[in-house]
Amino acid sequence: MRIVSVDPFYLRMPVVTDAADGTQDSFLVRIRTDNGLEGWGESDASPIVSLSVYCCPMSHGNIVSIRESLLGETLGGVEDIHRLHAKTLRNGLDIQHIHHAYSASDLALWDLLGKHAGQPVYKLLDGASATSHPKLPYASVLFGDTPELTRQRATDLRHQGFKAAKFGWGPMGKFGRENDVALVRAAREGLGDDATVLVDAGVVWGHDWQTALQRAADFAPFRPGWLEEPLLPDAIEDYRRLCTRKPAVPIAAGEGSGRYRDAEDLLLNGGVKFIQIDVGRIGGITPAHRVRKLAEEHGVTYVNHTFKSHLSLAASIHVFAAVEGFEILEYVMGGSSLSRELTTEMLKRGADGRVRTPERPGLGVDVSPAAFKKYLCPVRIEAGGKALFESAPP
Ligand SMILES: [Mg+2]
Repeated sequence: MRIVSVDPFYLRMPVVTDAADGTQDSFLVRIRTDNGLEGWGESDASPIVSLSVYCCPMSHGNIVSIRESLLGETLGGVEDIHRLHAKTLRNGLDIQHIHHAYSASDLALWDLLGKHAGQPVYKLLDGASATSHPKLPYASVLFGDTPELTRQRATDLRHQGFKAAKFGWGPMGKFGRENDVALVRAAREGLGDDATVLVDAGVVWGHDWQTALQRAADFAPFRPGWLEEPLLPDAIEDYRRLCTRKPAVPIAAGEGSGRYRDAEDLLLNGGVKFIQIDVGRIGGITPAHRVRKLAEEHGVTYVNHTFKSHLSLAASIHVFAAVEGFEILEYVMGGSSLSRELTTEMLKRGADGRVRTPERPGLGVDVSPAAFKKYLCPVRIEAGGKALFESAPP
């Protein structure tokens, strides 16, 4: 196959607020080939900043746009996806945002190759004999402003059938030890004794690994499955200090990894027990799968980080579908109507509460033409009076 078009798109809700909700807009890429196939991908990144990486004029040999690197290229096998990943990132060596921006293209290329080969993406990644394992979805929500509101939120999730949930950000770490403990206790009481409770501290202790260590001990009686991002993403030395002291609750982090190297650093030098990777940030499925392999080698658990549409969720699950031991899946609850309508179907929970990997060729979900038109925000970029970019027709 030859790549004949690479089209980035900006979709958004009519009103975008400063709420910590990453589903209010979307950056999508559609790649078409000369045999009539198309693949789709999504980045978790600023849409317009990402879009510019597709159309920026060449500055020199290390600032070449993604579109220029991909157009006319051949795509016939997995080795081409790796080759194009390396080529595009090399051509954009001095574009700091390129990993985020390219993520959508990498997803689209895997989608295309799967459709071409008649295989779901996880089989391309792990071999034709690989089988997919159902995942335990955890509902991802914010802590309520008070312990009582957190208890209510947890109770609602239990009534919706969730056996696992993550509570994060909000008041955690901001009103002292007693309040922190009350929040986690409320989450456990609301969700029930048998459920998996996960705690996301939302980087609140910065570099203060001593407080993180203390809180892990404080939370341990409520048996959280992990304590996520107690520290800043690049506080690798502090993660190391924390993790070598064997905290009472295992430490999770990694969603801030914008390159393979960031995740590798956290995993090898930071010493985390769970590595959380967003395929829409790290450069796509290709580097995410590499992180998964590294995690397997070192006895660390790989988990997705996903807070976009089910296109991103599908891409995320293929990365670790074949590994039975990596069973926890971040599952967006709520989210904007854009994120819920963007795909024609969603990855629903089965009767056993588990989520299964789509077995159709490619990523296994389709972009809904109606939703695409409804939320599309056409873009035109000019320089020197000439159009650098104009959104392609839907
Ligand atoms: Mg988090």
